[in-house]
Amino acid sequence: MNFDLTEEQRVWKKTVHDFVAKEIKPKAREVDENSEFNWDAVRKGGPVGLLGMSIPEEYGGSGVDSISMAIAMEELGWGCGSTALAFAAHNGLGTAPLANFGSEELKKKWLPLVADGKHKLGALALTEPGAGSDIQGGVITKAGRQGNEWIVNGAKMWCTNASIAEYIITLVRTDPRGGSKSLSMILVPTDTPGLTIGPAEKKMGLRGSPTHAVTYDNVRVPLENLVGPEGRGLQQALATLDAGRIAIGAISVGLAQSALEAAVDYARQRKAFGQPIAEFQAIQWKLANMATEIEIARTMIHKAAWIKDQRRPFNKEAAIAKLYATEMAERACYDAIQIHGGYGYSREYNVERMYRDARLMTIGEGTSEIQRLVIARHVLASE
Ligand SMILES: Cc1cc2nc3c(=O)[nH]c(=O)nc-3n(C[C@H](O)[C@H](O)[C@H](O)COP(=O)(O)OP(=O)(O)OC[C@H]3O[C@@H](n4cnc5c(N)ncnc54)[C@H](O)[C@@H]3O)c2cc1C
Repeated sequence: MNFDLTEEQRVWKKTVHDFVAKEIKPKAREVDENSEFNWDAVRKGGPVGLLGMSIPEEYGGSGVDSISMAIAMEELGWGCGSTALAFAAHNGLGTAPLANFGSEELKKKWLPLVADGKHKLGALALTEPGAGSDIQGGVITKAGRQGNEWIVNGAKMWCTNASIAEYIITLVRTDPRGGSKSLSMILVPTDTPGLTIGPAEKKMGLRGSPTHAVTYDNVRVPLENLVGPEGRGLQQALATLDAGRIAIGAISVGLAQSALEAAVDYARQRKAFGQPIAEFQAIQWKLANMATEIEIARTMIHKAAWIKDQRRPFNKEAAIAKLYATEMAERACYDAIQIHGGYGYSREYNVERMYRDARLMTIGEGTSEIQRLVIARHVLASE
């Protein structure tokens, strides 16, 4: 593994950094305060390539490698957790399964549309009111064939981007007998009659990233809207989540980096006992720990992305990277608040928002407990 970024990756990093610094970071507080999605970031981010990272160029995407995707997600996380999550859900969940498993017709029809920034985004609905970690056993949303259509009935929960999406790729049970080959993915356009998107959930953080319950009441879509072969939905979902975990880990690194930068600035200018608090060893150690853990997490994220690009199994590395980066981000944001003292607890400063945003990262796309389960399975199988 090469620890240097390629020239292309370095240019990409700078391009995305400059874009986020100009278009996304300055609006982060506003989107959180107003629970408002940053549409401008979509309109302007499309031409930069930020909406087509999982989409090959022939379908209008930027088709970047996995390290470049991780770089972009870190930069987005550095700028704004909400906007970063919406972009991660679009690239990693809403478009990746379609690009990886969809038919030629589906890819041609939908991918160019959601990559250009002029339209809405993509979304993926796996989780249900009664099932998140256990999608294999718990999914009860079902689809049955009738003539040349699927009829979908059920309910999904916590669907990021649902209200700002052109379509929702929906995990459904197509074989009522159950088992690992009983689930399938179906693309459901959001204007299909019978599909209802609930109001945006009121969340602790990530308030500029809309999350919704979705219900399906005799929703009819053509048989051709099946994404991948019938019965492969579980395997497709797990593969999608493996890659998505790298993205969530990368966002966490970005949040932590941003918190560190805010803490350094504050520690330099805040005085106590006649000197800047940055002169106190207790503060320096916090900053040193943050910097060290960020570096470790970033390296692990890039390692998992690199293995993915080698087309080797990366399930364990993605789980380790996500587990470490997300829990690290929470520690970093906690310490950044601590360094800010009372001001850290105020909405006037950004670190409290970062702390609230980071909290989701240990839950979405597989909780920390599920990551430990995955890692332990590998450890027990090999050692
Ligand atoms: C803001 C937000 C955005 C989201 N976006 C999406 C999205 O776009 N699409 C989507 O499909 N989902 C989305 N989710 C759902 C998310 O992926 C789930 O919340 C997550 O997978 C956990 O599922 P759950 O909430 O049902 O918790 P549960 O699975 O009910 O888990 C509850 C607790 O039990 C623990 N647990 C469960 N099983 C085990 C086990 N075997 N061993 C040890 N502990 C266990 C969990 O770790 C957790 O602590 C989102 C959630 C949030 C909050």
